[in-house]
Amino acid sequence: MSWSGTETSATQQVPCKDLCPEWECRNPDDYRGVWVIGETGPEGVLEPSLQLLTPARKIADKLKVKVTGVLIGYGVRDLAKQFIEYGADEVIVVDDERLKEYSPQVYGEVAVHLVKKYRPEMVFVAGTMRGRELAPYIANHLRAGITADCTDFDADEKTRDVFQIRPPFGAVLLAYIRTPNRRPQMATARPNVFPLPPRDPGRTGEVIEEKIDHVPKARARLVSRKVIPRTEAPIEKAEIVVGGGKGLGTPEGFKQLEELAKVLGAVVGGSRRAVDLGWIPHERQIGQTGKSIKAVIYIAVGISGAAQHMFGVREAGVVVAINKDPAAPIFSQADYGVVADYRDVIPSLVKRLVQLKEELKKGSPEPKG
Ligand code: FAD
Repeated sequence: MSWSGTETSATQQVPCKDLCPEWECRNPDDYRGVWVIGETGPEGVLEPSLQLLTPARKIADKLKVKVTGVLIGYGVRDLAKQFIEYGADEVIVVDDERLKEYSPQVYGEVAVHLVKKYRPEMVFVAGTMRGRELAPYIANHLRAGITADCTDFDADEKTRDVFQIRPPFGAVLLAYIRTPNRRPQMATARPNVFPLPPRDPGRTGEVIEEKIDHVPKARARLVSRKVIPRTEAPIEKAEIVVGGGKGLGTPEGFKQLEELAKVLGAVVGGSRRAVDLGWIPHERQIGQTGKSIKAVIYIAVGISGAAQHMFGVREAGVVVAINKDPAAPIFSQADYGVVADYRDVIPSLVKRLVQLKEELKKGSPEPKG
């Protein structure tokens, strides 16, 4: 196990009053249980929240405590079943018409109220757009620490500290971060970093309904809501992804990738360099600070294969790299590699694939080549 920073053992703890006069130090022994605060949408509890039941179960089993799902909103009562089917032992529900509109401040204050009442030792929040504003709001109000974008978790059964594991900025190392002086411990993980636990429709668990006397008044008002229709499938769900990098040289390079994607029924993504250059929107960035993909096939074009990029490809099946530099790091991680200028490869690949499709359509039994 490797450590970043200094390890502080439980016996060397700095008194909380010296660290933060605003939050009385609680005895960690008063805190028990692992929570997942669920995000909901029209389709129910969102997948990134359900995925967090995977690390939550691992930590809860190690610390011999329950996994609790938390649902805050209006019309969310019936979703508790979904949380339980995916592995929560119990669900705390705050279902109130006054919580119809999401507000990080209002939902955050309700969550803080619940944490103070039930005292979980670990709280997980999905690293979605919403979770990324809600989780720090809760952590700040509790004067708790929070580690964003974790890629793994472990726990020390003796101190009950949860190791919040993540790659530090720009490095290939893994940092094991823990929060010995504060409870609850809090962390986020990006969508698709953890697999969805298997669903068991027969699973049962307790549903605890919480009533909130006073719902805080939102300091911000929702003026209008505009749903921006997606023009294509979300990259994190696509079966085939074609990714472009700085090696494409110009934004026009992406037009070639779009053509290839069209023939393959794929979605186009890119590296952070391509996003920084404005060649592709951030929502299609693949990697540590972008999306994690689960594609069956990933074709990386003009991408060097930096660790931060490859992090987003961990769950992908077959990786094909097209790069003109035979020493590009991506070749050591790809299943298939083509050492060539993409401008020579992509047009002929598109041509051949179109040909093959035509042949298949005509019912040619064995396409040649
Ligand atoms: P380059 O590294 O410049 O590689 C371009 C490649 O194209 C080269 O290998 C070159 O040989 C090849 N090439 C050039 N011309 C051609 C051609 N004509 N035909 C074929 N090949 C060609 N990066 C991400 O992608 N996603 C992230 O989420 C991410 N998060 C990060 C987080 C942090 C904290 C940090 C510090 C960095 C992060 N990065 C991320 C950046 C990452 O470190 C790399 O800088 C980035 O991935 C490189 O992008 P690239 O491969 O497109 O560009």
